[in-house]
Amino acid sequence: MRQSLTLLLFAACLAGCAHAPPASTRNPLAEWVPSPNYEPRRPVIIVLHATEQASAQQSLDTLRTANRGGKVSAHYLIGDEGRIYQLVADDQRAWHAGAGSWGTITDLNSVSIGIEIDNDIGEAYTEPQLEALLRLLEDLSTRLHIPKSQVIGHSDMAPTRKRDPGSLFPWQRLADAGFGRWPRGPLVDPPAGFDPWLAMAAIGYPLKDRAAAVRAFHRHYRGRDDGGDPQASFDAQDLRMLHALAMPAPLPR
Ligand SMILES: [Zn+2]
Repeated sequence: MRQSLTLLLFAACLAGCAHAPPASTRNPLAEWVPSPNYEPRRPVIIVLHATEQASAQQSLDTLRTANRGGKVSAHYLIGDEGRIYQLVADDQRAWHAGAGSWGTITDLNSVSIGIEIDNDIGEAYTEPQLEALLRLLEDLSTRLHIPKSQVIGHSDMAPTRKRDPGSLFPWQRLADAGFGRWPRGPLVDPPAGFDPWLAMAAIGYPLKDRAAAVRAFHRHYRGRDDGGDPQASFDAQDLRMLHALAMPAPLPR
């Protein structure tokens, strides 16, 4: 009797559990009524990194093994001669961003594509590397429908921990090609009462450590590395840029 009941349950499960996901991904609070209408989720933002290592080969090893500081990975790596390597599929969660936030996004790894660029931060990015990056950004934004403005640096989302891709990364050149955010039009002094912290929050910067956020802003928008300066603060040009960045874009005519 016991055996026939087991068989019956097994047969019922074969019929009814065909679309069931692994038990670990099912919510015990809910009844499983599967729909066939789904596909892998798409990322919505791109995070750029500098490898800060000696060579692309060293980074390929680091990004594919259990290295000293724990397992890390990225979707892409761009060598300094412009070669593009893919290490993780676009629809999978790679381990490149870690703790940090951008706007309301608190788990960047779950919603982003991570691109490592072979650069040790103290050197200029190479021309073939930047051309390859722009080709890859064009492909990702087109194919995955990631808004072109949604391209940030690792240090933007994790300013207390990270400095990559560093102050030598040419964000303005990316902006000229349509990627990331850059102030447009003539820069003017903001009106009285302008709050730069509201502007920083509107752009996306996490503000738990305000000096760290200022240092990240300087790396990104001023090409300047303040080191670990705990007193880093905005100057008049920062305020003009912040005002322009936080202003809504003019409506198309
Ligand atoms: Zn990084």
